[in-house]
Amino acid sequence: MSASNRTLGLIRRYRDRLPAFDDANIVSIGEGSTPLIHAPRLGDRLGVNLYLKYEGLNPTGSFKDRGMTTALSAAKQDGAQAVICASTGNTSASAAAYAARAGIRCVVVIPGGKVALGKLAQAQIAGASVVQIDGSFDDALRMVRVMSEEHPITLVNNLNPYRLEGQKTAAWEIIDDLGHQPEWMCLPVGNGGNITAYWRGYNESLQRGDISVLPRMLGAQAEGSAAMVRGEDVLQPETIATAIRIGAPVRREEAGAAARDSNGGFAAANDREILDWFGHVVRDEGVFCEPSSAASLAGLANARRDGLVAEGAEVVCVLTGNGLKDPDTAISESAPPITIPAERDALERIVLGTPA
Ligand SMILES: *Cc1c(COP(=O)(O)O)cnc(C)c1O
Repeated sequence: MSASNRTLGLIRRYRDRLPAFDDANIVSIGEGSTPLIHAPRLGDRLGVNLYLKYEGLNPTGSFKDRGMTTALSAAKQDGAQAVICASTGNTSASAAAYAARAGIRCVVVIPGGKVALGKLAQAQIAGASVVQIDGSFDDALRMVRVMSEEHPITLVNNLNPYRLEGQKTAAWEIIDDLGHQPEWMCLPVGNGGNITAYWRGYNESLQRGDISVLPRMLGAQAEGSAAMVRGEDVLQPETIATAIRIGAPVRREEAGAAARDSNGGFAAANDREILDWFGHVVRDEGVFCEPSSAASLAGLANARRDGLVAEGAEVVCVLTGNGLKDPDTAISESAPPITIPAERDALERIVLGTPA
């Protein structure tokens, strides 16, 4: 793969393996081709050889852009006048941006008060109709499904088959960058769309002969919304990791099959554990992700503790979204700035670490 292909957006980069779109209908903002970062200090902490797939560097700051370039290109090709989605935040930010790029109207429905500030800002400034409901993501999804069934408006949640087609390209990039498949592939699971997409991507690579073994898939969930871990819906999901605050995973069957067929599994982590790993990843490696993304690291830590993932294993963890999405949580997890008078001595005391 030549380096220049990486600037084309993923539909053009992987044109030979994705659904066909006319050039005029491709809706791209240069998504995909995100870095795979070796993380030795964080890996030592976990007892594994760790790589981070930093999806926070997509155009709107999350992996959702991979599925939105294909979903909006298909919508444009079909002559859609409007798209709609339910969202915990990142889907709405991505849909709003790609719909703007396509010149298509966008309506997003979100759980009121439960969307991180940066994500809300993105959807609003991009001109989407942002609708808050007094209910959960699961309620919002039920409502938008009805709208898309009764009116000529395209649903761009991951029930839209083009979403997963775009998202599976992340697995191909990992194989390109690593030169082989990792032993374990670990990612946070909300609706289960992304783990389904990665599993599909790896299976297609196996069929193509690019790899000869499949990775084991580990899905990480927040304890308060761990429907896959528990094997049943969670009626009132609650977690600081708002992107995975989902009680009824839409892709439950496929996500379950990915974990089972890969000899992998699911792991839960509580909010305190998620926040601890949210801090470790940026303090050890300088990589700032959102709390939901750190659930993959917290889940991996618990899977190590429980003996599911062996010491020294090669693991790729997906950091699904950028830390700038949720400044409130970062600030509440950090020491406040030190306030001093604008004087040399006051600064020197701090620089030298002498008590005031
Ligand atoms: C959407 C999202 C997830 C969950 O992905 P699913 O496909 O719903 O399992 C995880 N992390 C972030 C940051 C997300 O935006």
